[in-house]
Amino acid sequence: MKSSRRKFLQIAGLSALGWSICPSLLQASGHGGGEGGNGQGVRWAMAIDTRKLDDKLMEECVHACHSIHNVPKINSKQNIKWIWSAPFEKLFPGQMHKFLKEVPEEHTLALCNHCGNPSCVRVCPTKATFKRPDGIVMMDFHRCIGCRYCMAACPYGSRSFNFADPRRFLKEQNPDFPTRTKGVVEKCTFCAERLDEGKRPACVEAAKGAIYFGDLNDPHSEVRQVLKERYSIRRKPGLGTDPSVYYLI
Ligand code: SF4
Ligand code: SF4
Repeated sequence: MKSSRRKFLQIAGLSALGWSICPSLLQASGHGGGEGGNGQGVRWAMAIDTRKLDDKLMEECVHACHSIHNVPKINSKQNIKWIWSAPFEKLFPGQMHKFLKEVPEEHTLALCNHCGNPSCVRVCPTKATFKRPDGIVMMDFHRCIGCRYCMAACPYGSRSFNFADPRRFLKEQNPDFPTRTKGVVEKCTFCAERLDEGKRPACVEAAKGAIYFGDLNDPHSEVRQVLKERYSIRRKPGLGTDPSVYYLI
């Protein structure tokens, strides 16, 4: 058997096992890559203030993201979402108790967590999903073969698959951002294209102070400051994926 074919089958075998593999073992084996979380370089992170977000602000955040990234609105289960609002119970199963319901809003925003130990990266056989050194988990749409292993591996439902040609559902297009084709997976990119220009993510701007963003490895960043001052939780922390999205309660 040719070594490239053997290597592919090994990766496919790992993919079939997917997220049942112990995260610490995979971390030790070097999968997941990147410098994030080890105190070197930049690791981008977000802190969502669940008390400041209301329905209107959340809608504006979703609109800001989806309009600039050409995310189509499809009125069916095949809808594509990069950022969305969902009830606390769904986002934090096992972390809820009845008094947490006393927070003003029972919904909050969800998006890709840009995990420090991302299960989606480990299972992608073509490396279409990869992690940048600054912790951003990216998608290369051209390398995606639509196998959807990454969707099965993501425990947060953060990825969407284009069952149909998404361009048919776009009323307007942002010419500065690529559109996608049928058969590829997509998700939030932490606005990597805006960060590379020195801007903040679009949802952070639209949130008018309700979402903090910055470098987790910089003790002076606004995200570190607010994490020092406020109580925060992350989604499904027991899975060991190490999310970079924090929720201020
Ligand atoms: S939230 Fe899901 S898609 Fe995003 S990095 Fe983590 S495992 Fe991957
Ligand atoms: S960080 Fe950017 S891509 Fe991700 S949800 Fe916010 S606006 Fe969308």
